Amino acid sequence: MSAIADPVDNAVRIDGGRLWSRLMAMAQIGATPQGGCNRQALTDGDFSGRELLRGWAEAAGCRVRVDAVGNLFVRRAGRDDSLPVVMTGSHLDTQPTGGKFDGVYGVIAGLEVLQRLHEAGVAPLHSMEVVVWCNEEGCRFPMAMMGSAVWSGRLPLDAAYALTDRTGRSVKDELERLGIATRGAVTRQPVKAALEVHIEQGPVLEQRAKTIGVVTGVQHMSRHEVIVEGQEAHAGPTPMDMRRDPIRVLADVLPALYAAARDRGSDARLTVGIIETLPGSPNTVPGHLRFTVDVRHPQIDPYTELRGEIESVVRAALRRHSLKGDIRCVWEAPGVRFDTACVDAVRAATVALGYDAMDMVSGAGHDSCNTAAVVPTSMIFVPCAGGLSHNEAESADPAHLEAGANVLLHAMLALASA
Ligand SMILES: [Zn+2]
Repeated sequence: MSAIADPVDNAVRIDGGRLWSRLMAMAQIGATPQGGCNRQALTDGDFSGRELLRGWAEAAGCRVRVDAVGNLFVRRAGRDDSLPVVMTGSHLDTQPTGGKFDGVYGVIAGLEVLQRLHEAGVAPLHSMEVVVWCNEEGCRFPMAMMGSAVWSGRLPLDAAYALTDRTGRSVKDELERLGIATRGAVTRQPVKAALEVHIEQGPVLEQRAKTIGVVTGVQHMSRHEVIVEGQEAHAGPTPMDMRRDPIRVLADVLPALYAAARDRGSDARLTVGIIETLPGSPNTVPGHLRFTVDVRHPQIDPYTELRGEIESVVRAALRRHSLKGDIRCVWEAPGVRFDTACVDAVRAATVALGYDAMDMVSGAGHDSCNTAAVVPTSMIFVPCAGGLSHNEAESADPAHLEAGANVLLHAMLALASA
């Protein structure tokens, strides 16, 4: 734990002890032997977690409602309840071997904001809401950020309902099993601003000894699949110059890919995560090669250049070796630039509270990518130990979690006051 100087004494603050103890209480639900959490979307554990939150919220004078895709909203009325709300939130579902903080922190920090304002008798002009987005992780039902996608109109409700897990159970079946009404549409309430506080899930804040990341957007990302067709041949009798070996393409392409990423600066990301050959035998020249390239960059121009260069490098290598094959984009998520007023509110709160901060771009997708398409949105990051996430060892400093929640509190207060 590290002490963080806090020069503003005479204003409301979140209760860091309660924030931590609630994180630990939530982590008991679906706790894994390695100290992580397995609370996948729409399981009994997910439901228990949501009920635990509901109890805390109702005891803090808030109203709770659940929409037809399982998004849960905790509302605290402002002085004029007819005005658009200032919203925050994240998710309570986890990966099968997830941690205690990914998503959960954003939800419990949001509740802490509402509860502290309740206890301090502060009533801002606008109402505030904390949302628990349903199925953010997309590991049980294969659609990450599902609930926020439906809410923001990017995914039809019926398409979400039809998703099934590996045992064939659908989202709709599971919502109904858990007593969530699936009649009616998902309607979007008017929102003035949406903020999400989250662990960084990367190592940058920790390495630079910063307490707060002021997140200005989410980087552009895409995934590409390369197929190369060769000819299976015996590794002994076939001379090197008489083979049609797809690995020759890989050998040419890899250095060129890493060089292309390096040329786009330190913000570029390139990952070759899968390399597969068939038949996969040590004494057979492969007849088939498949590999993937994941590309990311926060800026559109270098991102587009990098994408283009990867394609031309692969095509040139195929021609050079006279082998059949192709590269195609199998997934793309365009980058997001967060709302200036929301980013400014976060930065102002960070400065007022005296925390060490830096601007950054998120490397991962979040529910905020969906909300940003329809309402003013931004995010706040806090460091996590070693940058680890989606891992049972995921961990964060209570002082950093408290700082992030205080930034959320003051940014939300500023946005809700006028
Ligand atoms: Zn998350």
